[in-house]
Amino acid sequence: MKKKIFIKTFGCQMNEYDSNRIYDSVKKIGFQKTNDLKNTDCFVLNTCHIRNKAKEKVYHEVGRIKKIFKKKNKPIMIIVGCVAQAENQEMLKREPYIDIVIGPQSYHKINEALMKFERHKQKEETEFDTISKFKYFDKIENKDNKISAFLTIQEGCDKFCHFCVVPFTRGPEYSRPVKKILHEAEMLIKNGAKEITLLGQNVNAYSYIENSKEYRISNLINELEKYSELKRIRYTTSHPKDMTDDLIDCYVNNKKLMPFVHLPIQSGSNKILKLMNRKHTVEDYIKIYEKLKKINSKIEFSSDFIISYPGETNDDFNDTLNLVKKIKFINSYSFIFSPRPGTKAAELKLIDNETSKKRLNEIQKHLFSYQINKNRFFEGKSVEVLVENKIYDQSKLFGRNKFNNSVIFLGDKSDIGKIIKVKIESSNQNSLFGKIENNEDMRAA
Ligand code: SAM
Ligand code: SF4
Repeated sequence: MKKKIFIKTFGCQMNEYDSNRIYDSVKKIGFQKTNDLKNTDCFVLNTCHIRNKAKEKVYHEVGRIKKIFKKKNKPIMIIVGCVAQAENQEMLKREPYIDIVIGPQSYHKINEALMKFERHKQKEETEFDTISKFKYFDKIENKDNKISAFLTIQEGCDKFCHFCVVPFTRGPEYSRPVKKILHEAEMLIKNGAKEITLLGQNVNAYSYIENSKEYRISNLINELEKYSELKRIRYTTSHPKDMTDDLIDCYVNNKKLMPFVHLPIQSGSNKILKLMNRKHTVEDYIKIYEKLKKINSKIEFSSDFIISYPGETNDDFNDTLNLVKKIKFINSYSFIFSPRPGTKAAELKLIDNETSKKRLNEIQKHLFSYQINKNRFFEGKSVEVLVENKIYDQSKLFGRNKFNNSVIFLGDKSDIGKIIKVKIESSNQNSLFGKIENNEDMRAA
C-alpha cells in the first residue's frame, strides 16, 4: 500500500510551487498526496520566514500534530522552507518530534532524506545547491493540473534590502535555462493550464545567457504567448529596478499578458528607500507607472508596504500616504516592519507599537477603500473570467478576472478552464459576485 504524505504550506506562491514539486518527487519512492491530515504517514510543513513569529508558528504547528497523533504512531515530521534554512539544527535540538529539516535549495535531497530516515537515521540538510535542485526537478514531470499554474523561473536575491531575509534563506540569484522553463510550461499546458504565473523572488531580474545572448523575462513572455492553448500570463514578484523597457514593451503587443502589475515599493519616502537599500527612488517608480499607463490606461497596480521602518518620521509616512493616494493601488500588502535576525535592519531602533499601529491603520484605510471602490466599479458590468474550480456547496464556480480579482458565480463544471463573461451583481473587499451571461455570443475566446 502507498504511504501517505500531507504538506501544509505557509507563505508565498513560490512555497506553493515547491510543495507541488515535493509531491512530484516523493511519488517516486511510494508516497502519495493526501488531504487527510489525521491519517498521514508523513507530515511536511513548508515554512515562511519573512515576518515575525515564523519560528513560533512552526513549533505551534508541531504541537498541534503531536496532539492529533497522541494515541497513534507519529508521522515522519519534516520541516522545509525558509525557517528550515534559517534554523536548521536548532529545530532538531529544540523539538525532537521533528525528524528532518531541509532548506529550499536542497529539495532534490528530500527522497534520500526520507529513505534514510525510514532506516532510522535523522537527516538535516541546509546547503545552497540551487543548480542541482533544478537539474533534479527538471527530470521529474510537473504533475500540477490546475487551470492557473505556477512556474518558478528564478530563485534567490542579490539585492540585500536591509530588512529582508530572502538573500539568506534562498541564496543568490539563479535563473533557470529557457529550454527547461518552456518544457515545463508545455507540461503544465498539457495537464490543462490556461494561465501560467511566472515566479521568482525577483522574477523580473531573470537573466539567462546562452550562446552569448541574454534571455530576459520579456523573452519568456513572448515565447509563452505562442502557445495557443495558454490564455493568460502573469508574473510575480517584481522589483522596480528590474522593470526594464523590454518588459514594459511586452504590454504593447502581448495579448495574453494580464493588465495587472504587482510591483512592491515599500515606502513613498526616498529617505526611507535609501535606508532600506532599495536601489530605486519614488520617482523611478512613478516613471514606470506612467510608462505602463501610457501603453494601456487600464493597467492596475498593487504593491507591498513596510510601515514604521526604523527612522520613518511622520513626514516620511505622509510621503507614503501621498503615493498611495496618487497611484490608487487596487490590492496591496502592508505590514509593520518586523526585525529579521541576521539582517542589517535587525539591530536598528524600533518605532513604538502605538505609532506603528496608528500608521498601519491609516494606510490600510486608504488601501482598502481603493480596493472596495475598484470592486464596486465592476458592479453592473461584464467581466471576463477564467474559471478555475468549483467551490462551497459545489454549485458555485470560482475564477479570476484580468486584474486577478476573485469572481464567484453559479455555474456548471463544464465551464472550468474556459474564459466566460460574468455580469457582476455585488462585491465586497475581496471578491466579486455575479452570474454568467446567457448570451452565447458574449462568450470570450
Ligand atoms: N522581491 C520583492 C521586492 O523586492 O519588492 C519582494 C519580495 S519579499 C519576499 C515580499 C514582501 O515581504 C516585501 O515586499 C516586503 O514588503 C515584505 N517584507 C520583507 N521583509 C520584511 C520585514 N522584515 N518586515 C516586514 N515586511 C517585510
Ligand atoms: Fe528581499 Fe525583494 Fe529586497 Fe531581495 S529585492 S532583499 S527579495 S525585498
